[in-house]
Amino acid sequence: MALTDITRIEVSKAIEEYDRLGRDAFLRRYGFGRARRYLLLCGGRHYDSKAIVGAAHGYVPGLQPLAAGEFSGGAAHAVSLLRGLGFTVLEEMPESALLRDDLIDRVAQLKVNRSSGRPALFQPIVLLWAIGRARRGEPRLLSWRETEDQLTNLLQRHGMRGERPRPDYPVAALRRAGLWVLPDHQGTVPAAHGDTELRGWFRGNQPLGGLAEPVYDLLRRSGDTRLAVIGELLCRFFDDLDYGPLLTDVGLYDDDVAGDETSWEAETPEGSPEPWLVMAAEYERLCRIVEHGEGAKHGKRVSRTTYNPIRSSAARRAVLERSERRCENPDCTGMPSDTTDRGLPILEVDHVVDLALGGRDHPSQMVALCPNCHAVKTRGRTRESLREALLRVAAERHSAVARAAASL
Ligand SMILES: [Zn+2]
Repeated sequence: MALTDITRIEVSKAIEEYDRLGRDAFLRRYGFGRARRYLLLCGGRHYDSKAIVGAAHGYVPGLQPLAAGEFSGGAAHAVSLLRGLGFTVLEEMPESALLRDDLIDRVAQLKVNRSSGRPALFQPIVLLWAIGRARRGEPRLLSWRETEDQLTNLLQRHGMRGERPRPDYPVAALRRAGLWVLPDHQGTVPAAHGDTELRGWFRGNQPLGGLAEPVYDLLRRSGDTRLAVIGELLCRFFDDLDYGPLLTDVGLYDDDVAGDETSWEAETPEGSPEPWLVMAAEYERLCRIVEHGEGAKHGKRVSRTTYNPIRSSAARRAVLERSERRCENPDCTGMPSDTTDRGLPILEVDHVVDLALGGRDHPSQMVALCPNCHAVKTRGRTRESLREALLRVAAERHSAVARAAASL
């Protein structure tokens, strides 16, 4: 085996294949398990680094893919090879980063009925309902009777594209997408197209069901994941619709939707450049949610002053990520050393220019300030010059992080 034959070209081909097949199929194809320690970060996505190298070897002309047992996945081989080729490899990333990528992928690839010319909304509605439940910590699994009770009403009110308000279709489809489980019925649900059969099966079996456990846990715990999934669903399915009433009904329309259940302190060791790169990738993704619907879309211009809690939540979260837990005023005279109950720094996210005065609800015009600096900015004699300085800081920090994200 000669890892030294591998260049960026073969690695990129392996990454493309991974994207095409999805994580599970890729790992199965090459006979690798899930990475426990080293993840390759590329284009803002995470990859099992050792499996990528094994597959890349097969793209070198005349060579075969390497099996997991044929080389070490540790720093000595796969990782040093990838880093040597200029790739970013993260160490001991929590499994949740990969799980989140995978979840967003599955949501992005949901197959919905488009016979009316527009996507059917039942699967997205069922998912949003379940995300609201996870956020409130309600039980993951519900009886079919309760599921039907809660969903029929919701589907009737928000399904607005002529679909029959029946939850059996979307639940069966989400189960095929790997997002939903019916734990007492492994592999025995009839195909979704057998109309009366499907309905009869659910009525007869009354299955207990809900989100798959790792998905539920992640959506309950991680506000950032919640926001990413909601953002993906809104972008794909609710582009030109007023989704406010639906999100209100499922308990997701407020600007703390990205709030975490517990603290979100960096889990990677301090001092390495990697957490900063991870943050940059996150920041970039949050900015995309903020920007969705902000600019011209389908020829329509969405008003910037319309308050949208989902975008606001993404913007605030992005600024907090960017701040790295410190007041962003360069002349800050010191922020409180205490933290909130959730272990978060005591920071306020401020729109440098008031929205009412034409400011933009976007991280490039927002800063994280400690309570002192926030007070000076609001009531201090120097507030005008501080405002100007902060506007520059926000723009500079925004482009620095966006540049770093673009290089990943
Ligand atoms: Zn300060």
